[in-house]
Amino acid sequence: MSVLVNGSPTKDFVVGKGLRQGDPLSPFLFLIAAEGLTGMMQKAVGIGVFHGYKVSDDLLFHTLQFADDTILIGKGNWDNLWSIKTVLRSFELVSGLKINFFKSKLYGINLDDNFLNAASAFLHCGVESIPFRFLGIPVGANPRRKITWNPIVDNMRKRLSSWNGRNLSIGVIAECGLWNEVEWNWRLLWNGDLAQDDIEAAAELECLLSDISPNKDRTDYRKWITNNLGMFSVNSAYCILQNCYSPLTINSNVVDALQDLWANDVPSKVSIFGWRLLLARLPTRKALERKRIISNPRELCCAFCFREEEDIDHLFFNCSISIQVWKKVYEWLDMNFITFEEVWKHFTTFGDLVKSKSLAKARHVIWLATTWSIWRTRNNIMFRGDVFNLALLVNQIIFISWVWFVGRIELNPSFVFSDWCNDPLACILSI
Ligand SMILES: [Zn+2]
Repeated sequence: MSVLVNGSPTKDFVVGKGLRQGDPLSPFLFLIAAEGLTGMMQKAVGIGVFHGYKVSDDLLFHTLQFADDTILIGKGNWDNLWSIKTVLRSFELVSGLKINFFKSKLYGINLDDNFLNAASAFLHCGVESIPFRFLGIPVGANPRRKITWNPIVDNMRKRLSSWNGRNLSIGVIAECGLWNEVEWNWRLLWNGDLAQDDIEAAAELECLLSDISPNKDRTDYRKWITNNLGMFSVNSAYCILQNCYSPLTINSNVVDALQDLWANDVPSKVSIFGWRLLLARLPTRKALERKRIISNPRELCCAFCFREEEDIDHLFFNCSISIQVWKKVYEWLDMNFITFEEVWKHFTTFGDLVKSKSLAKARHVIWLATTWSIWRTRNNIMFRGDVFNLALLVNQIIFISWVWFVGRIELNPSFVFSDWCNDPLACILSI
């Protein structure tokens, strides 16, 4: 499979099944895999090839794991090192995970330096000394000393103060209020004097709280205010957003054309293609230049005529090659060729060929089949090295418009493909 990124196809890749990156399930999948390592270590201890750290007769540590952090603890001897190496390598083979030895460290407690250096060369990892940090907490430092905990307190302080600097310091509220029979009265009592910033923030907080009256008999719960049931719905969020932001100013003719477009019963990818075409949002060479993806002016030329710059107006309507295509299409429809002014105008004029309102779902099928086929042919020339073939393209337009038209009308058509080739408008009008 290959996908188009900014209009250019990526290298082919094999499609597989699994969890995507960022999937909420992936940490659990990781835990299941990491559990395998603990299992293997337990087995190694069980059969006596690894000797963990014995705290007491019934407490022995060999592995500590937290998420992707793992500590293996054991006696400092060669038997244990061999077992660690064997277990880690086996774990790599069965799980498909790779252990980053560059990030792994060996710590020795009361061990000879020579032994540690030899062991680190054997396991291909670096040597470090205690205390070290595990999950942000110093391990091996004296926990009774204040200095051990200073970095953690500082860290917490930094984090709390970065809450946009306007938040009240910790523990500043001594009391928030009291129940008066059934009603709650807010009464904020502050621990110590407030700074000027804090006074303003406190006033703001009191103002916010004045609207809130807790209910003694009910437990707290979350409520989505705009919905009567208090439940979140995408629709209500969409409505809020619609009211907050005025839509981009789009030419009202284009808006009308878009409404007609959605009424057509064609595959959704084609509707979306038509939508992008009417809004001039297709990644033509000129559009890629505007987005600074293309900088070489020689890459801007039209894939059909190689003369003019490729923008939507040129590629679909004004290029000598596209004009030939449209002429053939109008010939097939037995209609006069419509000259091009603007995309929406061309679209609307074409739709007017089929007057009846009830046929809205088939009005632009041929227009969409034509523009869609032009775009596909352009992509095949550009990315697959195809050669332009007018007769082939026109046949393709006739065929796919037939497939879209006949495949999506529910009644049994009284006409066949040759009728469609002879007089498509009569077929559309006959449904
Ligand atoms: Zn051209």
